Amino acid sequence: MNVYDSNRIKELAKKAGYFQTQNLLDADCYVLNTCHIREKASDKVYHEVGRIKKKFRDKKKPILIVAGCVAQAEGDEMIKKDKYIDGVVGPQSYQQIPNILKEIESNKKRINSTDFNVIEKFDSLNLIRNNDSKISSFLTIQEGCDKFCNFCVVPYTRGPEHSRSFEEVIIEAKQLIENGSREITLLGQNVNAYNFGKYRLADIIYKLNELKSLDRIRFTTSHPKDMSNDLINAYKECEKLMPVLHLPVQSGSTKILRLMNRKHTVEEYYEIIDRLKSINPEIQFSSDFIIGYPGETDHDFEKTVDLMKKIKFINSYSYIYSPRPGTPASLKKTDEKDKLKERLIYFQKISDEIKKDYRKKLLDTNLEILFENRLSNQNIYFGRDKYQNSVLADSRLNLIGQKKNIKVNNFNHSTLFGNILKSQKKEFVV
Ligand code: SAM
Ligand code: SF4
Repeated sequence: MNVYDSNRIKELAKKAGYFQTQNLLDADCYVLNTCHIREKASDKVYHEVGRIKKKFRDKKKPILIVAGCVAQAEGDEMIKKDKYIDGVVGPQSYQQIPNILKEIESNKKRINSTDFNVIEKFDSLNLIRNNDSKISSFLTIQEGCDKFCNFCVVPYTRGPEHSRSFEEVIIEAKQLIENGSREITLLGQNVNAYNFGKYRLADIIYKLNELKSLDRIRFTTSHPKDMSNDLINAYKECEKLMPVLHLPVQSGSTKILRLMNRKHTVEEYYEIIDRLKSINPEIQFSSDFIIGYPGETDHDFEKTVDLMKKIKFINSYSYIYSPRPGTPASLKKTDEKDKLKERLIYFQKISDEIKKDYRKKLLDTNLEILFENRLSNQNIYFGRDKYQNSVLADSRLNLIGQKKNIKVNNFNHSTLFGNILKSQKKEFVV
């Protein structure tokens, strides 16, 4: 979502006369778009501010704006603590950036803009075209969260759930397709809680499925509680909806899920997976896990490992629980750090082995790849298969925006490597 937001900020900044540069030392203004989900993510902001200061030690100071969830959570403190920061802008008020820039330029005033203006935000974003011209694009359809898991800052930093209008979402999707997008990933902190009048997420998927020139639809991130029947059925009826679902589970122990206030049990999670598999046997899953949540015993942890082994997620994101200020869980005690680290290492070893086995089975198979870009100065193209696996293949011809079949000849943890197969169609050159 921050990638999508940064792209929109880029469009907004043009209103104040700012254009994106790749040359960091040329910048008159830096916008750091930040994440507050775990402690490490927010530490990066202060580190980056330090780097910018160092870079510009002997040059004119650029305007520095901190945007996103760290700005929302720590804005006041940041402005007080570090004079180098000229402005802080929360994720629901970045439509203010052109005005903020003008104000900082003319009045040399430091600005804190952290109101929750989500309606105003989307109203103003709807007025500017989404000029993103990537083969695979993001499209935010929903923001915020009303679920209040006990460990999570999102309800406090992104605010309550808000769904964009169905019409605006479709207009933006059409803009992206006109710009050349062949794949759209619908985004939301709880994307499957999308709820606008009579429209739900499944309605957006069915509508996108009809759009010519769009090949692939994905969505993220979903909550198990909102996996409704219409959405599950879309995996049977919408051929453009890719057969991989990212469905965070967090823990394999129902006791821990209760302590987390996750509002679903492990049994319900298994049931959703079974229903999806029976509707579309091709489907694969990825998930998020929190290791060492307060109250997690060895037995609870074993249940998480067990879930991993049973479902065999093709991708998993696991982190040690990170206490976030202001959340209910931050008041609870966790086990010692070393023990949690040991659990994480063990868990990641199991999940890596599962991923490796899955990838091994792909060797010598043929996959259809949508190619997105070319590695700089090389005839190597990057694309993804329908399960979102990253693929690299050599080609003398430009493959960007094309779907080609490859035969997988090698793999590592992050990438599959393959040879382009000659098309079955007769090809000619004029
Ligand atoms: N809304 C999605 C859901 O509930 O499944 C998840 C969105 S959250 C922004 C992304 C992931 O960050 C979560 O699935 C969780 O695993 C992780 N996360 C959130 N708070 C965390 C914390 N305090 N410590 C460690 N991981 C955390
Ligand atoms: Fe955070 Fe997701 Fe829980 Fe909402 S549902 S509080 S975004 S983990």
